[in-house]
Amino acid sequence: MEQSSLCDDLGRKVRYLRVSITDRCNLRCLYCQSNRLSRYIPHDDILKYEEILRLLHILVPLGVEKVRLTGGEPLARKGCGEFLGRLREHFPNLDLRLTTNGTMLSGSLQDLVQCKINAVNISLDTFDPETFTKVTGRDMLPRVLSTIDALVDAGIKVKINAVLMPGITQASLEQFIHLAQDLDIDVRFIEFMPMGQDTIWSKDAFCPWSEILALVTKNYELIPEKNVDLTAGPAQMFKFKGAPGRLGFISPITNHFCYTCNRLRLTSDGSLRLCLYDDHEYPVRPLLRDAYVTDEQIAAKILEVLRKKTLGVGLLERRGQNKPVAVRNMSGIGG
Ligand code: SAM
Repeated sequence: MEQSSLCDDLGRKVRYLRVSITDRCNLRCLYCQSNRLSRYIPHDDILKYEEILRLLHILVPLGVEKVRLTGGEPLARKGCGEFLGRLREHFPNLDLRLTTNGTMLSGSLQDLVQCKINAVNISLDTFDPETFTKVTGRDMLPRVLSTIDALVDAGIKVKINAVLMPGITQASLEQFIHLAQDLDIDVRFIEFMPMGQDTIWSKDAFCPWSEILALVTKNYELIPEKNVDLTAGPAQMFKFKGAPGRLGFISPITNHFCYTCNRLRLTSDGSLRLCLYDDHEYPVRPLLRDAYVTDEQIAAKILEVLRKKTLGVGLLERRGQNKPVAVRNMSGIGG
């Protein structure tokens, strides 16, 4: 049923769905603030895998081409690897991805290989063990590094997401550069976003992408790449001469990409979030759990609410000094 596609009033087409399958996480990253969560979403309110699958059977025919499982920590939810396999069985052509902190992957590596996952994003902000513990609350850097090696050895495309904070994780910049020079890995630096009501975001804790770019280009020549794949996301990518990997910059604060946003988010408790920055969410769980509501009715509802997809930059501009742009924590949204 490509009757009508997922399109908002500004003409932006949604092609990419980020699915948070849990709000639980085993790490407590400083910038994510999941450590401040006083309570988690009750288990009964978390969407079941069956319900997510049903929703995808509604959304894929409407134009979703790329799906990412995220969280919380997606691999902290039992059955995540098997679920990826089921998604692949149901949607052989889907661009299927996972974002993980890389600490819980070992038992699922085979699942990722079997489902021919298109890429795995690993969040890693530092190569220094002490800083890693300071940032994440856990002494698990060696495990993340061996996960990266295992994924590369298994032939899976790896992307690294790093939030560089001055005086904390930024000291690892040189090692991130070397990683992209040595291996076929995309290292993407993401600007720290003021998300969640207890965010520790401040001007001092924030480094704009242009400053990181300037630091890199002091010593290295970067070759800009055109982002030819429109579903590939908002990263501005650069190559090094003769190196297998690439560096990328994701700049939601200083150089927003709201006008070309093609994303929709599904929170773990089953609400559609039209914009990362916009706390208005549209619950689909009650529809999925109502035996009298059909797939066609759910599709119609989604097409209707999607029209109101927000232009996040407006919210960003209106936020006060050091105030969050959205109240919901990243661990509840999925990044
Ligand atoms: N647990 C998984 C992980 O660590 O990759 C998935 C969830 S995590 C919320 C998804 C991504 O959001 C991570 O790459 C993390 O670095 C990023 N993130 C979380 N809070 C952020 C913030 N305030 N600003 C920028 N990126 C953030």
